[in-house]
Amino acid sequence: MEFAWGKEDKAFRDVLVDYLDTELADGWHRADGTGLGSAVYTDFSRSFVGKLAAKGWLTPHWPEQYGGGGQGAWQHFVLGEEMWKRGEPRGPQYMNVNWVGPAIIKYGTEEQKQTLLPPIARGEVYWCQGFSEPEAGTDLASLKTRAVRDGDGYVVNGQKIWTSYANAADYCFLLARTGSTADGRDGISVFLLPMDTPGVEVRRIDCLVGDHSFNEVFLTDVRLPRSALLGEENNGWNIVRRTLAYERVGAPRYARAALVLDGLAEWARDHGRLDDPGIAEQFGEARALCEAARVLVYRVIDERAKQKEPSPRAYQARAAMVQAERAVGDLALDVMGSEALVEHSLGDTQFRNSLGAGIAAGSYEVQLNLISRLILGMPKE
Ligand SMILES: Cc1cc2nc3c(=O)[nH]c(=O)nc-3n(C[C@H](O)[C@H](O)[C@H](O)COP(=O)(O)OP(=O)(O)OC[C@H]3O[C@@H](n4cnc5c(N)ncnc54)[C@H](O)[C@@H]3O)c2cc1C
Repeated sequence: MEFAWGKEDKAFRDVLVDYLDTELADGWHRADGTGLGSAVYTDFSRSFVGKLAAKGWLTPHWPEQYGGGGQGAWQHFVLGEEMWKRGEPRGPQYMNVNWVGPAIIKYGTEEQKQTLLPPIARGEVYWCQGFSEPEAGTDLASLKTRAVRDGDGYVVNGQKIWTSYANAADYCFLLARTGSTADGRDGISVFLLPMDTPGVEVRRIDCLVGDHSFNEVFLTDVRLPRSALLGEENNGWNIVRRTLAYERVGAPRYARAALVLDGLAEWARDHGRLDDPGIAEQFGEARALCEAARVLVYRVIDERAKQKEPSPRAYQARAAMVQAERAVGDLALDVMGSEALVEHSLGDTQFRNSLGAGIAAGSYEVQLNLISRLILGMPKE
């Protein structure tokens, strides 16, 4: 068995690392104390992803006819890993690149592909994900936002919540109910909603898990043409299930956690904290958790590279990533003490990240439920 990286993947990573070390040399993020959803951050990301796109590094795994590089799953993942190691300078673009674009490629009409994919591949647009509602988070199938047929289009009414980056987004990948409530997941459709459509209102939510990246989105009599529907009516659940199957591991969060761990180790060395055997042990455990998460995620990427159907291993990998993020977050508080409470310090940022990590993209508890049922073979309830 060969555990090392293939020649091509290694060469790709070397070139990428050289580029990023130069391009992001000034410690681009949070340099001015602002955070994820801020204009400074999103403006930076827009200009940065434009440069990536010009080098063919924004959508390398997409088919060439849609602006991709026709590369494989591993190269796409190497790219994601190096981005998350640096705090994800692509901003919300990882959603476009990882699953919004691929969903349009798989289910879109030719017109949707021609109009929506090129701006993503060029790094010109942001998309947000309009799934969660006040009464529908984990239980997403109970969502209530309705899209009612009206002539040759739809009228949408409802409310979304926790919509990351909606304040900066050009489009929303929106889930709305086109069937009856009793249809549950079989009555949901996907709409590709331009955020400047009349009736769309974005309201900011200040939140413990970080600076302004959360929003509520209110939809009042929003009129959409039929061409905004992705795939077939009432087939939204299948579309989301298939296109997001790998997304549980799409963001290699362990890479960012490992980076923070390095920073904490430096801080601990400078402050004489590594002499404490308890702290040294915690460092060892956190590092082991980051490594375990990395290897478990690699197993999932290997399945994808071999074009196998997604397996429950993705739940294991995601649960391991949450454990790694939390271990580093807890360690940050223990090592840095009150200094970790300073806003935007390494400790503060990691602790907030670790709070969100166990909820976003499917909560930790739900991953554990799925592991117990699908991997350990335990009964449902
Ligand atoms: C950083 C971050 C970014 C996000 N970005 C977006 C976004 O861009 N777009 C979007 O649509 N949403 C987004 N969300 C929302 C996220 O998807 C939801 O918060 C998540 O689905 C949980 O839903 P909820 O908040 O309603 O909590 P609930 O579903 O009410 O869950 C509350 C708690 O109960 C537990 N729980 C619920 N059901 C079960 C069960 N069956 N078994 C065991 N435990 C259970 C959960 O694990 C959780 O701990 C984001 C969230 C975070 C933290």
